[in-house]
Amino acid sequence: MIHINPHYYKIQANYLFAEVAQRVKTYKTAHPEADLIRLGIGDVTKALPAVCVEALIRGSREQGCDETFHGYGPDYGYDFLREAIAKVDFQARGCDISPDEIFVSDGAKCDVGNFQEIFDGNIRVGVPDPVYPVYVDTNVMAGRTGAAADGRYQGLVYLVGNEANGFVPGLPSEPVDLVYLCFPNNPTGAVATREQLTAWVEWAKANDALILFDAAYEFFIQDPSIPHSIYEIPGAKEVAVEFRSFSKTAGFTGTRCGYAVVPNECRAFDASGNAVALQPLWKRRQSTKFNGVSYPVQLAAAAVYTPEGQAQCRELIAGYLANAQIVSSHLTAKGYRTTGGTNSPYIWFDTGTDSWAFFDRLLNEAQVVTTPGSGFGNAGAGYIRITAFNSRENVERAMERLDKIL
Ligand SMILES: *Cc1c(COP(=O)(O)O)cnc(C)c1O
Repeated sequence: MIHINPHYYKIQANYLFAEVAQRVKTYKTAHPEADLIRLGIGDVTKALPAVCVEALIRGSREQGCDETFHGYGPDYGYDFLREAIAKVDFQARGCDISPDEIFVSDGAKCDVGNFQEIFDGNIRVGVPDPVYPVYVDTNVMAGRTGAAADGRYQGLVYLVGNEANGFVPGLPSEPVDLVYLCFPNNPTGAVATREQLTAWVEWAKANDALILFDAAYEFFIQDPSIPHSIYEIPGAKEVAVEFRSFSKTAGFTGTRCGYAVVPNECRAFDASGNAVALQPLWKRRQSTKFNGVSYPVQLAAAAVYTPEGQAQCRELIAGYLANAQIVSSHLTAKGYRTTGGTNSPYIWFDTGTDSWAFFDRLLNEAQVVTTPGSGFGNAGAGYIRITAFNSRENVERAMERLDKIL
């Protein structure tokens, strides 16, 4: 008899975006004329940079000609892309990362979800709360947790972010072997300082642990004192894997490209406590289960690293950051304490009431769609996330409406 993986039964349906969609639909049905403004989902809205479009077209033409056709690509990405990544994203920031430590993929969600596969089923996992749900659900599917109760899975260690710690969780007070960190953070928009990241790296070394560092929003960092990469912290290469994505940097959510950095010296341990290099295991995993990113898309990703590409991405991000500033300043003027919005496209704030009640109020009274913070974990209760991913005009119109009702 064909049996289901029993761990799949434990996964709590993520009602968050389905419930948001349902409430929006109900409102639309009752008010067909309503002009809704969506500041809810974490998807970009602006077109690809022109250099990327040109590269996609060039790559497609090459695929249409026998002389320039590319079949299966190299397992870990084309050298032209791995070299550009190592140079611009790391070496230019003083991080000693070489092209052979870069593993090109179809996005950070897959990588950050897949990476746990190479670890034992019994490791102790620490996840942030509020959290990007992929970190939690992939460990549930892998059988590392018990059942869910009151919004939390037994067996996971929840690292709580709150106003007291500026939404940068402190070090765990119980044993943890693998920890997920995400800065700039989704959903809170918080960033971690050099000192805070140093404390995590030192903790990982002292505890023979590993950090999975999700830097999908790195390009939004404006404050020069905030590290863009975990490898800006001395010693991090031994204890951290970093995930990056072109999704938010260059509008690739529908084009698909990202990469993982697995440094040569990055290690875990075998059952006898001997250090084992992670990179050969990740290579084995990727070459077995993944077949690379299409040639035109890798060309488009490499175009991001040309001077024109960097300028076009900066302009894209500046537009979203200006939106975020508009949202932050309107909320602050109304007396709300906000997190994010300066080095991040997300603005996170305490509504002083129930997340869903406030969501409904913004929907019904201002026709503005947001995301209830409680959907990201127990520590998000009472909060709302607003995203900067919309046009300037729509963000301004949304804020005028909020000004009237708040
Ligand atoms: C958007 C996002 C990513 C990027 O995912 P892709 O699969 O590359 O599109 C990764 N992590 C977080 C926290 C995100 O919000």
